Amino acid sequence: MSDDGRDGRRRSHVVILGGGFGGLYAARALAREPVDITLLDRKNHHLFQPLLYQVATAGLNPSDIAAPIRRILRHQKNVRVELAEATAIDVENHAVRVGERAVGYDFLIVATGVTHSYFAHPDWEAHAPGLKSIEDALEIRRRVLLAFEEAEREPDEERQRAWLTFVVVGGGATGVELAGALAELAHHVLHADFRRIQPTRARILLVEGGDRLLPAFTPGLSEDAKETLAGMGVSVEVATKVEGIDADGVVLGGKRIAARTVLWAAGVRASPLATTLGAPLDGAGRVLVADDLSLPGHPEVFVVGDLAHVEHEGKLVPGVAPAAMQEGAHAAKAIARALVGGKRVPFRYFDKGSLATIGRAAAVAERDTIHMTGFVAWLAWLVIHLFFLIGFRNRVLVMLEWAWAYVAYDRGARVITQAWRPTAAVRGPASQLPPPPAPRTTGPLAPPPGPAFPPNRGEGAVDQRA
Ligand SMILES: Cc1cc2nc3c(=O)[nH]c(=O)nc-3n(C[C@H](O)[C@H](O)[C@H](O)COP(=O)(O)OP(=O)(O)OC[C@H]3O[C@@H](n4cnc5c(N)ncnc54)[C@H](O)[C@@H]3O)c2cc1C
Repeated sequence: MSDDGRDGRRRSHVVILGGGFGGLYAARALAREPVDITLLDRKNHHLFQPLLYQVATAGLNPSDIAAPIRRILRHQKNVRVELAEATAIDVENHAVRVGERAVGYDFLIVATGVTHSYFAHPDWEAHAPGLKSIEDALEIRRRVLLAFEEAEREPDEERQRAWLTFVVVGGGATGVELAGALAELAHHVLHADFRRIQPTRARILLVEGGDRLLPAFTPGLSEDAKETLAGMGVSVEVATKVEGIDADGVVLGGKRIAARTVLWAAGVRASPLATTLGAPLDGAGRVLVADDLSLPGHPEVFVVGDLAHVEHEGKLVPGVAPAAMQEGAHAAKAIARALVGGKRVPFRYFDKGSLATIGRAAAVAERDTIHMTGFVAWLAWLVIHLFFLIGFRNRVLVMLEWAWAYVAYDRGARVITQAWRPTAAVRGPASQLPPPPAPRTTGPLAPPPGPAFPPNRGEGAVDQRA
């Protein structure tokens, strides 16, 4: 959009949607190229999602795992960061709709990721929050900490048991991490803090619809994870489908389990922005990209990260951070090559292996034929997560928090932040409290009408990390 000051040619404008792993690594890889970049994100921060479960279980604070995008890119002079939500993409006119505006581009990189999916049960969301954002993590933390408070106040034994029952739905890496961290919280951190209840009696149930936990790992490691969780006091139910979720609990195999805290780690669906690209989508709403990550028929548009359905050597590239980073960098290089008339090259995924932590000094790791469990795997997990955490300050803070948690069996972020109301409010007609406000259906982010921007139509869901 601007003159490059050397040969008088207009510099190309690259728009990047999303400042997650895909978008951020794309922006960085374009640092030395003669382009002007606009990076749009609806949040002001880049979020290190792999450690979200630590915020959800009071181990870390939000600012330990999130950093302002503007700050991360402050030294990169060819980037302008804008806090804004893209609502549609008009590939024919090379424009992104942002509120009432159309932002033009020469090249576009779409990296807006995925959201939760409750399959065909959107009503479950209110009772079983998922974990994708800082807001989600704080909501889960609030519910978990409040459950112990409610149990302490509850004189009725049966209702107390329901408050002390936690169900995690989904046995992929996120579900395993959440269940393990909840067990540690109940059995090692809170055990001395209450007088009427024994937090150690908390029941943590991990439910997986498939026939084993961590299906992305080899069966031996799945079994190892299950045994480790059992040793930590987590009950694991595999091959068990959730048939219902409401304010009082879950229904599993026709049996109701009274549980006041249910957490969702079972499925994701692509960002609805994908549907406005007019490209073919897979069952989870991800965009089926060409082998160079471009949109078929639109070599100037790239889709990267969780939002893209990318295959490498006949296999779907998993929805993990290293894949998003590699794809973002690949799209950036393709743009740099296009600027000098170079040829496109297909994307090649370099699989760095899989890691999942289960709890204190317990994890599973796998790379090709190398398998690790226990303390060694956990140490590898620790080092890798610290290394990729954005910002030196965050790395130091997280390292100190972990060291303290390890030595003292403590979790420092046990703060209930939102306003608290007695739970009688949700129990039925006896409540004297006013009903909650109706959900907002209109507002500044509601998509404006316009024929160039078709409505969203994404459907389907998968657990990308399963
Ligand atoms: C709880 C959890 C744990 C995980 N653990 C691991 C792990 O241990 N290891 C691992 O490798 N991977 C892990 N992952 C997966 C990993 O985080 C993702 O693969 C990775 O974040 C994908 O990067 P992305 O850039 O595609 O999307 P994201 O990182 O999700 O970024 C998308 C960005 O787009 C922005 N955005 C969305 N819609 C719009 C819009 N319309 N307009 C403007 N901005 C928008 C969002 O605000 C966000 O900043 C985990 C994910 C979760 C949720």
